[in-house]
This record gives sequence, C-alpha cells and structure tokens, in this order.
Amino acid sequence: MSQTILPVSPSVELMNGIFDALQQQSSKQRMSSARDRIRRLDALYKEIWCRRDDLKSAMWEDFRKPGQEVDLTEIFVVKSEIKFVKKRLRKWMKPRRVSGGLALLGSASWVRSEAKGVALIIAPWNYPMQLVFRPLIAAIAAGCTVLLKPSELTGKTAGVIAEIVAAVFPENEVSVVQGGVETATHLLSLPFNHMYFTGSPEVGKIVMRAAAQHPCSVTLELGGKSPVILDDSAPLKATAKKIAWAKLANAGQICVAPDYIFVPRSMESDFVEALKSAMMELYPGVLAENPDYQRIIKGEHAQRLLDLTEDAVSKGAKVSYGGASDAEDCFVHPTILSDLSPEAQIMQEEVFGPVLPVIAYDDIQEVIHSVNSRPVPLALYIYSKRNRVVNQLLDAIQSGGASINNSVIHVSSNHLPFGGLGNSGIGSGHGQHGFNEFTHMRGVYEQRVRGAVALLMPPYRPWKTKVIDRLLRWL
Ligand code: NAD
Repeated sequence: MSQTILPVSPSVELMNGIFDALQQQSSKQRMSSARDRIRRLDALYKEIWCRRDDLKSAMWEDFRKPGQEVDLTEIFVVKSEIKFVKKRLRKWMKPRRVSGGLALLGSASWVRSEAKGVALIIAPWNYPMQLVFRPLIAAIAAGCTVLLKPSELTGKTAGVIAEIVAAVFPENEVSVVQGGVETATHLLSLPFNHMYFTGSPEVGKIVMRAAAQHPCSVTLELGGKSPVILDDSAPLKATAKKIAWAKLANAGQICVAPDYIFVPRSMESDFVEALKSAMMELYPGVLAENPDYQRIIKGEHAQRLLDLTEDAVSKGAKVSYGGASDAEDCFVHPTILSDLSPEAQIMQEEVFGPVLPVIAYDDIQEVIHSVNSRPVPLALYIYSKRNRVVNQLLDAIQSGGASINNSVIHVSSNHLPFGGLGNSGIGSGHGQHGFNEFTHMRGVYEQRVRGAVALLMPPYRPWKTKVIDRLLRWL
C-alpha cells in the first residue's frame, strides 16, 4: 500500500495536511512525462481489475446495482477511457505551433499544455465509480495532483475506491477524502487550482461560489430535465424499447435519463402501450424480486418519487402503468404518467427515478416552446426518420448534448464532449475534452528577429502615423 486510508469525515487538520502535500508535489507532477502518466493509468486499471469483485459487492450493498451493469457501466467505461487517453496523450501534451500573423513577423508562437496544479474532484453517487475515475484519468493525464471526494451515499463503494487509490498512488499524488456536506464544505474552502464537480445544479452553484473566492476554474457536470421528442415517423416498438431501457437502467437515476416525452397525439395511446410492453419485457416477473432492477439510493429519495407521482395524480394525471412501491425498501415500481397538468411538480424538477411523464402534442412548435421555457437540459433526444424535423429541433432547442434515434448511449463516447450548458453545467469531460479541463493552455511568444512592432513605438512621427494607416488598410 502506497498510503494509509484516511478516516471517514477526517479532521480539518488532516485535510489541510493532505492538501499541502498535494500542493508541494504539484510542480513536480506538472513536469512528468507522458510515459510517467501512462504508467500511473496502467497501475490504476490493474488495481481496479484486481478489485472487480469487491466493487461489485460494494455497489450491490449500496444500491443493489447488478454485477453485469457494474462491468458494463463502471469498469468497462473506465477501461475504455484509459485506453483512449493512453493512445493519444503524447499528441495532446506536445506543444502546438501557431501562426503569429503578419503583425508578428519575425517571431514564433506556440501553445503549451500545462497542468493546472491541484485539482478537487467531487462526485455523486449514481455511478459511484466511473464518475470518480473518469475525471481522475483526465487529471492524471493532464499532470495534476488530485483530491477525490466520492459521495457519502454510496459509502461502501467509496471505501473500495479509497483502498484502490491508496494501493496505487502516494498521498501527495492522489488522495481520497470520504465524507458528506461538512467535509465537502471544508474542501471547497481550500485554494485548489481546479474544481471538477459532478452533481446537482443546486450544489453546483455552491461550488462555483466557493471557486470564485480563490479564484479557480470549475467544471460543473450537472443535471436537469432531458426531454424526448418523437414524431410520427419513429417506429413505435423499437423506439419504445430504447426509451424504456434508457429510463429504467439504474432505476432512472442517470443524469441524462429521459425525463419526459412528447408524442404526437395520434400516437399517444399506442406509444404508451408499446412503452409498457417494453418495460415488462426488460424486467419480467415480480419486479421487487428481479435482481436486474435496481433500488433507489435512499428511502427519502424513493418517497420523493412517490410524492411526485401522487402530486401529479392529484392534479389530474393518469397512471398508465405502475405497481406497488415500497419507499422503506427503496423500491419504486416503473411508472408511466399521462394527461399531465403543467402545474404538476414532476414537470418542474428533475425526476431522477423510474417515473416517466408522457405528453401528447398537436404541433411541434408547442413542443419547442415548452422545452425552451425551462432551463437548458443536459441532453435532448429526438426520434424521427425525417432529417428536416431533426435539424429543426436541433436548431431550435439548446442542450448539453443530443442523441438522435437513441438515448443515453452518447455518454459512452470518448470522442464526443460531454457536458451541459447553463443550469445543466459548464465545461465538458471525456477524452481530450476532460484533459483540456485540467490543463492550462499557455500561449508562448518568442521574438526571433527584430520585428515591425519596434518601429511602431512612440514617439509617433508623421511617417509612423502613415505606416500605421497603411497597415490598418492592408493587414
Ligand atoms: P449532489 O449535488 O447532492 O451531491 C454531489 C456531491 O456533492 C456529493 O459528493 C456530495 O457529498 C456533495 N455535496 C452535497 N451537498 C453539498 C454542499 N452543500 N456543499 C458541498 N458539497 C456538497 O448530487 P447527487 O444527489 O449525489 O447526484 C444527483 C445529481 O447529480 C442529479 O442532479 C444528476 O443529474 C447529477 N449528475 C450529473 C452528472 C453529469 O455528468 N452531468 C452525472 C451524474 C449525476
């Protein structure tokens, strides 16, 4: 083991000590070679692989995440990110020559990719491993030292993450601090050089306020209400299956889960039936006993979903599909709501669970207006075979990312930037986009021969005035 594991909710003195050690190491880390960084990434993956079973048990205990989904959505995602970064890191780290333009004749200019310094990564619980390690991979690749704060709600997984990190890194390179709001609040008061936060928009604002005091740059990977829009060219059965899968994976606790669906009025009842069949096909039998169907993270969160459903029903919504839920057991049955009132609370906040409002529309302009009257979503999903409709919706509605004829899966790409806009976030992760978040692009200019600029210094004689005038016209 390279370091000892800190107790959960460590004292302020311990956290300050860790921060100082990371800060002292950061200039050395900044100068590390691509080879060194790749070696660290390899060691990280090797340890994750050795702890695969422990990760699965921890996530099962935390929220009954099926082992297959730990493999697919946590371990594989991290493996693929490391592979992607390793292949390209040398290229990303290389200084890039840029043109100086005519005004800077006789000079050379280039951009150096330099680590920002000490980074803080705060993660949520819904993908408790990949949302810690994916930004960590980017920070290591960029040459930062890192303090990680996993979510306290998935405490078992956070414990295994702390052990993995302790086995791979000395404490002055990467450290894990476990704890809740109080711990995070103290960490935010320390003068980090970059804060990478994944979580809710409410806490994102707290992080941004804290960052403004240092000041330091932030990446905010937040959430929101991601809409799905279908037109009548979308094949009913296939579309319903993709949406049902995207909504019920992780029991709807995905930042880009379909939050609500717009369907042409003529298709509404057939679509709801298709959605219902798809949900039953994916998760057959008694759902509370189906090991493929996940639990909600906490009883209070499950109760919030039941309250949202009850509120919608009290305002006229119809439960088109549902079943008995048990908040104490953190179990919420998949639920489809139709005939929703715009006043229903479920249309105001991120659902983040297996409850899906379906809204019938007559005119696509109504849909555009309705989505645009809310904060910019993290994802937009369009199901249509018509390019004209797809382009119209992409042009008219802003979102962090978008998927056409599928949902959620775009998150797995290492090539696409992943991030929000406005209420859904600032900055982007994944692949080179993640690397860039932890990197300062330092512009360097070198005067090589006596340049024209020297001629243009005061005093401004009439001939210089003439030269300036000519330059302005010609350049
Ligand atoms: P959260 O904002 O409650 O917590 C996230 C992290 O912030 C946790 O580590 C928590 O300990 C810490 N935290 C909580 N309150 C804090 C405070 N007052 N000060 C400082 N730190 C604090 O989010 P959550 O419930 O863990 O996750 C759900 C949210 O995260 C949803 O909104 C979801 O959409 C979003 N999310 C976004 C992404 C993305 O990539 N954009 C991914 C996953 C989840």
